[in-house]
Amino acid sequence: MYSQGRWGIPSDNSDRIYVITWSEAFGMWVCECPDFVYRRAQRRDACKHIQKLRDFLDHASYEQFNRLINENEIEWDGMKEK
Ligand SMILES: [Zn+2]
Repeated sequence: MYSQGRWGIPSDNSDRIYVITWSEAFGMWVCECPDFVYRRAQRRDACKHIQKLRDFLDHASYEQFNRLINENEIEWDGMKEK
């Protein structure tokens, strides 16, 4: 599993890329989007970017992983084997 690292997930409705990082302190993914920061963080709830990343990490094969990186759908910024 690629459970750690730092990921860029594109916004659905703008050119923005939201950075998601694994927080050891909270034991969860944290996203920098306003939805997460102002609403979901207190409830430890996942925003759609975190859901997208989780879904990707759960289902992507290594080939898909590389293809996605190439297509810039998800920017790779590091991964570690668990
Ligand atoms: Zn988000």
